[in-house]
Amino acid sequence: MRLANRMSRLGTESAFEVLGKAVALERAGRRVVHLEIGEPDFGTPPHVVAAVERALEDGLTKYVPSPGIPELREAVAAHLRSRGRATASPEQVVITPGGKPVLFFTMLALCEPGDEVIYPDPGFPMYASIADFTGARPVPLPLREENDFRVDPEELAGLVTDRTKLLILNSPQNPCGSVLTTEDVEAVARIAIERDLVVLTDEIYSSLSYSGRCPSVLDVDGMAERTVLLDGWSKTFAMTGFRLGYGVFPPALVEPVTRLMVNSVSCVPAFNQHGAVAALEGPWDVVDQMREEFRVRRDLLVDGLNKIKGISCLTPGGAFYAFPNVRGLGLPCEVLADRLLTEAGVACLPGTAFGAQGDGYLRLSYANSRGNRREALSAIDDLVSRAVI
Ligand code: PLP
Repeated sequence: MRLANRMSRLGTESAFEVLGKAVALERAGRRVVHLEIGEPDFGTPPHVVAAVERALEDGLTKYVPSPGIPELREAVAAHLRSRGRATASPEQVVITPGGKPVLFFTMLALCEPGDEVIYPDPGFPMYASIADFTGARPVPLPLREENDFRVDPEELAGLVTDRTKLLILNSPQNPCGSVLTTEDVEAVARIAIERDLVVLTDEIYSSLSYSGRCPSVLDVDGMAERTVLLDGWSKTFAMTGFRLGYGVFPPALVEPVTRLMVNSVSCVPAFNQHGAVAALEGPWDVVDQMREEFRVRRDLLVDGLNKIKGISCLTPGGAFYAFPNVRGLGLPCEVLADRLLTEAGVACLPGTAFGAQGDGYLRLSYANSRGNRREALSAIDDLVSRAVI
């Protein structure tokens, strides 16, 4: 069968490939510690599960409006207002099956061949993949360790051309765990306004910032009308399998994105949306507890990594990933990640899974239990001292 040419431009997400390999090893009787997948190991909060069960018992199993049930769109708008994150109306909120479709729909709606999309590198692999798929040219914006893996506004300004259509930001950041500062978002917003860019701010890890609320370009006057906000329930409430996310769109994008929903998935299941309302209504102490537990794990993991000769790791300010520099081990990071899986039973991702700038790094997810982290650290240490150096 001859596939459409565009399929050769659509990439994939290595985390799922490594997960597949790790599961195959487990099926063959090997023990594997999973540090590859970005998924909280906590259960979904019981009050969310109860709300879904109630909705199912009430027979809420039919089609609902494509952009989402009104109660949830209102709850999202009220939540964002109460946290001081955005002042959008409920009509600007579109509920999507996970956060990923916000990326897909935004780029399908905006990008054409010849357009350019600037995205962070290292960054979530879907940014470049989807941009490429639309025919636009993905333009990597390097995030450098010497700048704490934050966007350098001067470097950004140098990449903007007359063809730049969209700028993607992500803070707290996957895979580096970096968080943009107020000065960063102000400088970036100035460039976006001057050069008339649309900005997509991916804030899926918004609840996982370890030093208070994360600055956003949406804090800057004049940005709301050119910014798409992506967030959702996957990471915040340990609800990855619910497939629930949302976009807050400038008014001109709401109808096109709703049409993309109609043409693809119709709507997100109503019972899940009722669970999402319950999650936003709270209690939120489960989210705070999860973040505090991740903070403890982060400190233990980073500390442990920094004790291994040849590895150095910055302390991430958000999300649940450590991004250690492993250049001192003298092995390509892809080879190291592969050997860690096959020889030490530790599944993690090479930095290059997130772009060329990730060369020389690994991504380890610490959304995994403390015991597993200890086991992983000693397996890494063991492999490094035994085989690598
Ligand atoms: N954006 C980033 C930066 C992510 O890391 C992820 C998931 O890993 C997503 C978006 C997508 O989240 P969801 O599972 O809700 O589609």
